[in-house]
Parts: sequence; structure tokens; C-alpha cells
Amino acid sequence: MYFRILRDGDSGAVSYLIADLDVGECVLVDPRVKDTPLLAALLAEHALQLRWVLRTHQHDADGAATVEALRALGAPVVQGDAVAGADVPPDGEVLAFGNEHVRVWHTPGHTAGCLSYLWRDRVFCGGLLAIDACEDQPVPSEPEALWDSVVQRVFGLPSETLLFAGHVKQGRIVSTVLEERTAHPYFAARTRDEFLAAIAKLPRPHKSSRVAGRVGTRRASAYGAV
Ligand SMILES: [Zn+2]
Repeated sequence: MYFRILRDGDSGAVSYLIADLDVGECVLVDPRVKDTPLLAALLAEHALQLRWVLRTHQHDADGAATVEALRALGAPVVQGDAVAGADVPPDGEVLAFGNEHVRVWHTPGHTAGCLSYLWRDRVFCGGLLAIDACEDQPVPSEPEALWDSVVQRVFGLPSETLLFAGHVKQGRIVSTVLEERTAHPYFAARTRDEFLAAIAKLPRPHKSSRVAGRVGTRRASAYGAV
């Protein structure tokens, strides 16, 4: 087994490579288009066949172009948003690679199409726990669904389950279900109504000033990004 974390130093975005070295098959979670040459070299170095490109969510201005660029890595692109060229799996779908598999969960909230991927004792959950810190989605697009995704699904997993985010937050990319259940600033010790009230108070970015505000969003965040 080979598990590698690929962190982008500029943006703090994180991608993951999970490989079954015995069989020589792997998946990539949230690869970036600009990294495709590096990723192709990494796969070649380890003689790995890419089975799936797994995207937790997208904010792409042109989603179809991104999917097409990622498909050049040689595998189907799986995501929750139906754009040309992407595979949109049903909730609970199992995707195999080598002797391993990931299970797909529909976990809407950060965006309507967010997916999480469960592998062994780990969940790759993208921006699910980021709340106000994703520069592309500073306010959850579906707060009610987000509460249900996090509290009813993710927090129902065993306490020791590892949660891998799509972005570095406070210097970290991984936490546990126990940690988030007990200390998450938006979910812990709150009722659903209290959570929704807190989300409703978040500042809504003005569309025309959104680009200008993005840097400030990232710098000011107390809880990471994406
Ligand atoms: Zn995001």
C-alpha cells in the first residue's frame, strides 16, 4: 500500500494518491490540473495504473474543461456535479482499485454536489468541514444539507476515523471524527437550529467584489480553507 499526500505550497490545496502496489493500481483524490505532468510522472515511477480520479467537489468556472484535462491522466473522473465527461456515481457506490475499494458518499452542503470518499479508516471529505474558509465558497451553498451530511453521516463514523481535508487548515490536513464532533467551531455543542442561525450570520460576499475579497477571506480565516 502506498499513500501519499500532495500539498500545493501556494494555495494550501491538498491531493492524495492511494495505491495498491501489489496489483499496481491507484486512485487520485482531488488532483489539480496544473499538477498533471507531475502526477503522470509519479504514476510512471511506481508503474501504477490509475483507475479513478475522485473529486470531492468543484468550483471550476468551466467544469467540463477541467474534467477533460484530468481525464488525460487516463482514468474516469468521478464527481458530484454533472458536467460533460464526468461520471456521477450513486450514493454508496463502491469503486475498486487493485484489492482495495473506496465507497462514495453524497455529502452535499459545502456545494450541492459534494462527495466524500471512504477508504479503510479514512474519509476524504474535501471542503465539508471548512464552513466559512473556502475562498471559492465562503458560505455553504446548502446549510441544511451540510448539517445532515456532517452530523448524521460523518459524525456517525467511529471516533477514530481519520478525516482528510481538501485544504490545509491551521497547518493541518487531518483530524478525527472525535475531534470534530467535540471541538468543531460550528458543529460541536450546537443544535441544528443554532448551526443554521450561525451560518445565516456569515457575511455574504458581494458578487462584484468577490475576487477582491478572496485574499482577505483566506488570511482572516481562523479555520482553514476549502
Ligand atoms: Zn470548496
